[in-house]
Amino acid sequence: MLSVHQALEQIVGAVSPLGAERVGLFAAAGRVLAEDVRSPRDVPGYANSAMDGFAVRQADVARTPVRLRVIGISAAGTRSLPAVGPGEAARIMTGAPVPPGADTVVRVEDTRTEGDEVVIGGAGAKGKDIRLAGEDVRVGDTVLRRGRRLTPADVGLAASVGRTLLLVHRRPRVAILSTGNELIEADQPIESGQVVNSNAYALAAAVAEAGGIALPLAIARDTPEEIRAAFDEAARADAILSTGGVSVGDFDYVKAVMDEIGIDRLFWKVAQKPGKPLTFGMLAGRPVFGLPGNPVSALVCFYLYARPALRRMGGFRSLYLPIATATLAHDVKKTEGLTEFIRCRLERRGTALTASSTGTQSSSVLSSMSQGQALIVAPAQEKSLREGATVRVILLDPEAASEEAPF
Ligand code: AMP
Ligand code: MG
Repeated sequence: MLSVHQALEQIVGAVSPLGAERVGLFAAAGRVLAEDVRSPRDVPGYANSAMDGFAVRQADVARTPVRLRVIGISAAGTRSLPAVGPGEAARIMTGAPVPPGADTVVRVEDTRTEGDEVVIGGAGAKGKDIRLAGEDVRVGDTVLRRGRRLTPADVGLAASVGRTLLLVHRRPRVAILSTGNELIEADQPIESGQVVNSNAYALAAAVAEAGGIALPLAIARDTPEEIRAAFDEAARADAILSTGGVSVGDFDYVKAVMDEIGIDRLFWKVAQKPGKPLTFGMLAGRPVFGLPGNPVSALVCFYLYARPALRRMGGFRSLYLPIATATLAHDVKKTEGLTEFIRCRLERRGTALTASSTGTQSSSVLSSMSQGQALIVAPAQEKSLREGATVRVILLDPEAASEEAPF
């Protein structure tokens, strides 16, 4: 059986970034840039004042105190500027252009106004409190490089160089195909023997969180015909997630249908728990994940395998969920030979994290997943883990560690 490492390697190696599309700046944050952005201009475009005060000639203020004649004002947005000659000063506001002739700004706090004159009590060196043109960005500079996940600062920077549209990677459209005779939709009345198709909802949410666009399909019954028809429809998407029907039950047709419609199967079964029956293949360049039906298995397999693939398709460089190390709060028994992913709660004590299981690890108990924020990675070769052991945890919820105020 394939190890978790081998399975992940095969999946990530099989997919590549999708093409690009243009988006408006207001929709660009969080997207991955697919071009280098160069600036056609200097930012700021003109020398301006960093302070409210007076624009002066350094030669006039080399010795202070000194009295200068105030000949005008430069405010932010001013277009016709007073020229500052010897013995003169202009009032100037923060961000306002430095008038011709002036080369230094004196803060208002270091001055005293008397009628149409100003007494300069002290001044800095030449250029003091002047922001030079191009100090932030120079014309021709590459301000953002392709592959960057755009942050709010990046969006502001793009705006400041006059770009209102950016080329970004397309978000993968992900078909979610649920199989099972027992399944009903969440808004239908439930009868004995029926199960809500919770996987479709959980996976749609996880797809969106991974930067994809979820396309949930109608439930397919456990017949080869319905499953085939569902795959036909799903093949219009960039990636396919099916759930259920990949075990060895009498009505588990998904694998057979995948083979029959020409999906190039890379593997079936991974040495892990939960999610051992995971199936993966490629259909005309699209990754196809045959996720197990149990809700925990489906979601854990999504996080471990589908998420990195979708991130790669979306152009992201960082594919994986953050990992941390934690101290195990109690002994854990496990199956030797399988990598186990144990749903756990994390508690922070100072800078140290403590991990404790959320209880039953049955792959049908979705509440055990909801109550945890992380997965303990229990290595395949171990039979048990000891209380106090240092373990690696995969953080499923980036907010888990952000409850404490930073100051
Ligand atoms: P299967 O892999 O099809 O044998 O399903 C395994 C278990 O997961 C069964 O108990 C199913 O009822 C359950 N299950 C399968 N698909 C879903 C689904 N879409 N939503 C919730 N539970 C499911
Ligand atoms: Mg089933």
